[in-house]
Amino acid sequence: MAKAQSMSLMEFEKSFGSEEKCEAYLMQKRWNDGFICPHCQHSEYYYLQTRKLFECKSCQAQTSLTAGTLFHKSKLNLKTWFWAMFLVAHDKRGRSALSLSVVLELNYRTAFRLLRKIREDMKERDANYMLSGTVEMDEAYFGAPRKGKDGRGTDKAQAIVALSKDEFNHPLFLRIEVIEAATIEEITRVTKQYVKPGSKIVSDGHASYKALAKIGYIHEPKVYYKEDKENSSNSYTR
Ligand SMILES: [Zn+2]
Repeated sequence: MAKAQSMSLMEFEKSFGSEEKCEAYLMQKRWNDGFICPHCQHSEYYYLQTRKLFECKSCQAQTSLTAGTLFHKSKLNLKTWFWAMFLVAHDKRGRSALSLSVVLELNYRTAFRLLRKIREDMKERDANYMLSGTVEMDEAYFGAPRKGKDGRGTDKAQAIVALSKDEFNHPLFLRIEVIEAATIEEITRVTKQYVKPGSKIVSDGHASYKALAKIGYIHEPKVYYKEDKENSSNSYTR
């Protein structure tokens, strides 16, 4: 549902305007290449319409489309969930349970519980998202860096920028975390909180990053040529 944030209401209606469309979306998210029985890997199934279960033709195991999702065992239909998530994601002022109950024609208590679950889920997902694989880390300074210095020791506000990349070196997820100072303690704290152990941390050779190798990360120093260093004094990568 991440893309919901950038969709217009009309686009959303086109993609999620009926229960069937919402089911098809979940189906595609879960089994992109078609149903696979989680017990025996068989690909043929019967769909039990009333109970919304997939029954494997080979081993008869029943699998729910919503297993492992926020919607599992909910009495509300998927369309209501999807629309509530769309509305919550789109309202920067914070949508109230009352307005949700009016727009989605739900009673207040149901809308209240729905809103609370969606907010908890959003918060959890954001807070728990851990970068992994190859992660470039660097400090960022708000305001112009002072000339002739490498940036460390400045009194500007500081943050750690961590960017995970896929095997083709394309950016995947960016996290910016404000820190007190670029100390070993602060860099270790942020890394432990937001980067999965075993990930490869690519950074400059500063001692604060080298220390990460001692707590289960792979540290790979970035190599800079002299002229790059001079030309990039205003960017993140020094
Ligand atoms: Zn099976």
